[in-house]
Amino acid sequence: MQQISNHMPTAELQALDAAHHMHPFTQNDGLAKKGARIITRANGVTLTDSEGHEILDGMAGLWCVNIGYGRKEMATVAARQMNELPFYNTFFQTSHVPAIALAARIAELAPGDLNHVFFAGSGSEANDTNIRMVRHYWALKGQPERKVIISRKNAYHGSSMGSGSLGGMAGMHAQGGMPIPDIAHIDQPYWYMEGGEMTPEEFGLERARQLEAKILELGAERVAAFIGEPIQGAGGVIVPPATYWPEIQRICDKYNILLIADEVICGFGRTGNWFGSQTMGIKPHIMTIAKGLSSGYAPIGGSVVCDEIAHTIAQDEFNHGYTYSGHPVCAAVALENLRIIEEEGIIDHVRDVAHPYLAERWHALNDHPLVGDTALVGLMGSLALTPDKGKRARFASEAGTAGYITRERCFANNLVMRHVGDRMIISPPLVITPAQIDTLIERATKAFDEAYTQIKAEGLLKAA
Ligand SMILES: *Cc1c(COP(=O)(O)O)cnc(C)c1O
Repeated sequence: MQQISNHMPTAELQALDAAHHMHPFTQNDGLAKKGARIITRANGVTLTDSEGHEILDGMAGLWCVNIGYGRKEMATVAARQMNELPFYNTFFQTSHVPAIALAARIAELAPGDLNHVFFAGSGSEANDTNIRMVRHYWALKGQPERKVIISRKNAYHGSSMGSGSLGGMAGMHAQGGMPIPDIAHIDQPYWYMEGGEMTPEEFGLERARQLEAKILELGAERVAAFIGEPIQGAGGVIVPPATYWPEIQRICDKYNILLIADEVICGFGRTGNWFGSQTMGIKPHIMTIAKGLSSGYAPIGGSVVCDEIAHTIAQDEFNHGYTYSGHPVCAAVALENLRIIEEEGIIDHVRDVAHPYLAERWHALNDHPLVGDTALVGLMGSLALTPDKGKRARFASEAGTAGYITRERCFANNLVMRHVGDRMIISPPLVITPAQIDTLIERATKAFDEAYTQIKAEGLLKAA
């Protein structure tokens, strides 16, 4: 086996990558021709690639590196835990200190009586747990027919069979036999593109009331739970109108439907509170957590469960679990991450410094001829690209064409910003400073200028 290292020429690494590595959510033939960008190291908010470019990571990896890259304490804790107890399971009436300490700490941070944690290795696994847990809960309550979980179109809840079915991504459902039975989807609260002539407030109510209509259509006695991201992330950072969540809450309460808040992105400071449910005024029975739980330094997720469900589930053997549920190294790393967030006042930094500063500069991008709408909650933001600012217009070109051009210009200007269709999104590390925000905005502005020129030159500046 040859030694593969950071010092190999980029082209050789790309060739090996193309030959052997199947990338997620990627057309691998296309990538093979182009060559993957090879990231070699990172520090703070900055990535370095194999060509020596220093790139500002406006996405915190995949929405997860909340404390920023390169924190030595995290490596120290991981090494210490590996030396002490690298693995033990939690299945056979055994436990270990990292899992105990992390569960207790999460219970302390979580609102209300969300006092119990079922660990998973990822957000997808945790949402699969949730499907089985809420259905089993109702079975134990003598209502086994309560099986249906209602979600939203264009939601993202993960990529396994269960979590991908909960999600509402049409492109995912088109492959591999999803959704599984007894999952229903209502429309998303995306006012900018789907609100028509309604005010955002009217539209928020209209979309929330689809939940009530769906419950009545299915029969309330068949509905187990509703699941939603407090703010949709991968769907394009879609911030619901203020009327939406209170109405969803009212409907769930009225019909005794369990409410699952998927906090995988919103949790751990992203929205300026520990959890997005607090920011959006939601009282969930279960929260899904992952990503920012460990700031991505180790793979770990979980379901944070209220007293009533946990106590009910506890009466029976729950035939469910993952080898790595509560993995000691991941749990120790997550605990250290939570310590850093707390002790360094990172959530206060989001709320009092980074959000207000970014908000001013982000919303000013609305003046750009290519931008038709900006949104920012905490440090998750999005903006709509549009060929006609006045009219909330879509591009005539296939959705994502303008977005892709713009994302490529961002990369060329050493900025990672993603596109979802023709919406550009950011979710930087929570430790980003005002000076780094200035850099982000400068690079974004230059990229948007270049994208605008290119979109115009290619004749794509046309409304649908
Ligand atoms: C990323 C994500 C997931 C899936 O988490 P994985 O760790 O990738 O399995 C679930 N829900 C939301 C809201 C996410 O953003």
